[in-house]
Amino acid sequence: MRNGTPMIIASGYISQVDADLCAGCGACMEYCQFDALSIGYGFSIVVDADLCMGCGICVDQCDMGALTLVLEPGKGVPLELDLARDGRLMVC
Ligand code: SF4
Ligand code: SF4
Repeated sequence: MRNGTPMIIASGYISQVDADLCAGCGACMEYCQFDALSIGYGFSIVVDADLCMGCGICVDQCDMGALTLVLEPGKGVPLELDLARDGRLMVC
């Protein structure tokens, strides 16, 4: 936060856990800079959608493939990098 303006914005995605694949090891938790992950009832990871910024770092830390990023409309529209590269996206 600087001058009342948040310096980090959500990606438009959030992390989603497949409880059937999650072993509850907690390895992903230490990599989340936003404290969005916790161990829930049944020893499966729980994602706090309000805190998750959709950075995807946790996804790469899970050897079980239990985490994926999914679109979350409430987090805004993701930037289409292909459009920006092609010059078809105007950023003001
Ligand atoms: S690293 Fe994967 S298996 Fe371990 S708690 Fe996180 S989501 Fe579950
Ligand atoms: S996507 Fe990023 S912010 Fe969301 S739970 Fe994973 S590490 Fe945390």
